[in-house]
Amino acid sequence: MLQRKEPAVSHIFARACAGDLPEVARGDGVYLFDKSGKRYLDGSGGAAVSCLGHSDPDVLAAMTAQMKAVAFAHTGFFTSAAAEALADKLVAHTPPGLDRVWLVSGGSEAIEAALKLARQYFIEVGQPTRHRVIARRQSYHGNTLGALASGGNMWRRQPFDPLLMPSSHIAPCYAYRDQRPDEDTEAYGQRVADELESEILRLGNEQVMAFIAEPVVGATAGALPAVPGYFRRIREICDRYGVLLILDEVMCGMGRTGTLFASEQEGISPDITVIAKGLGAGYQPIGAMMCQGRIYQAIAEGSGAFQHGHTYMGHPVAAAAALAVVTKLTDGGLVKRSAAMGEVLAERLLAQFGQHPHVGDIRGRGLFMALELVADRDSKAPFDSADKIAGRIKKAAFARGLICYPMAGTIDGQRGDHVLLAPPFIISESEIDELVDKLAMALNDVV
Ligand code: PLP
Repeated sequence: MLQRKEPAVSHIFARACAGDLPEVARGDGVYLFDKSGKRYLDGSGGAAVSCLGHSDPDVLAAMTAQMKAVAFAHTGFFTSAAAEALADKLVAHTPPGLDRVWLVSGGSEAIEAALKLARQYFIEVGQPTRHRVIARRQSYHGNTLGALASGGNMWRRQPFDPLLMPSSHIAPCYAYRDQRPDEDTEAYGQRVADELESEILRLGNEQVMAFIAEPVVGATAGALPAVPGYFRRIREICDRYGVLLILDEVMCGMGRTGTLFASEQEGISPDITVIAKGLGAGYQPIGAMMCQGRIYQAIAEGSGAFQHGHTYMGHPVAAAAALAVVTKLTDGGLVKRSAAMGEVLAERLLAQFGQHPHVGDIRGRGLFMALELVADRDSKAPFDSADKIAGRIKKAAFARGLICYPMAGTIDGQRGDHVLLAPPFIISESEIDELVDKLAMALNDVV
């Protein structure tokens, strides 16, 4: 392992500029170890990335073999067996019709590709006025300018607003907070889905290019699935108005919710879908945009090229790593394990926090779960943002050797803070017990 002489100062431009983070030394299974030897249970796979855990020998072997053969060849000149085999594998396991795969280096890049593909598609099919994107409040689609403009996380957007293309946002599907006492779950889902139709009509159908949503909302709402029927209605509305449906599975895809694609549980197929995080499982930076064959054909038979691209797209080592990951998820049974261990995690969370005075909701699918934190369970009143509950829990858990992913409520202080859990699919029952115990202690340290 690389040893570094102790420098007087760090030259890393850290996320939080103070940069007082421990140095990670190694990873093993569900654990990370820092330089001092302290062990951390990776209860959120970083940010829902490490679905296989750390130091998986099969992925390391696949990467090594690819690196020895050829590490890089530009996609303007070559395809590679690794990229081709990865695309074959993904297409074999995707919702129907998504049969073209555009490989990039991460989630935001994949979202940018999806937005530009949607735009170029409408130019190719003779509908050039379509350019507007509709998304949902409390959504996150990445940090590059197009992705940020689409997303509905106002705090992240605000400083950069003058740089962003216009976009509009409808309500999230958030039954815990927004379902009215006089409506059942189905009526609630239809009501919020119908906001899409109103927004398309408000903007003018001929202006609208795409609706983008996470099937299970990750960081901005905390493992929040839509109610049954919501996405079927969304699909109908998109079809009625000729609007493309883009599903962002960067966080919830690749088995995280117990099926390889979260949309499988909604019984719909998107026009375009986007994956990343679990695709490379942290072994390599990789993401993908997948589209329906008819979108690809429109471009192939029209101008003949997608007017987009990045130097590292289709990187052979990243593709080899992702192929090994997806093979373990599908043929190796790890997606099924995510579903099974998700039930164990849900049961343990309910036992530990079901009556907790500051846990308002426990939700999620598979190994993608969250606790929504409230000041008062009965009124669902959130904590005051000045309490900085999320940040304090993250710190308390880390001190106790647990990595989890707490996030502050994001809309005008009306939404609860939450703690997102997304452990590796290899997690055992005793490791789930350790995760839940440490989280309970961290919560008690703070509230
Ligand atoms: N979309 C979703 C749903 C995400 O959660 C993220 C990252 O957290 C992104 C897009 C952006 O991905 P990346 O950070 O790899 O650019």
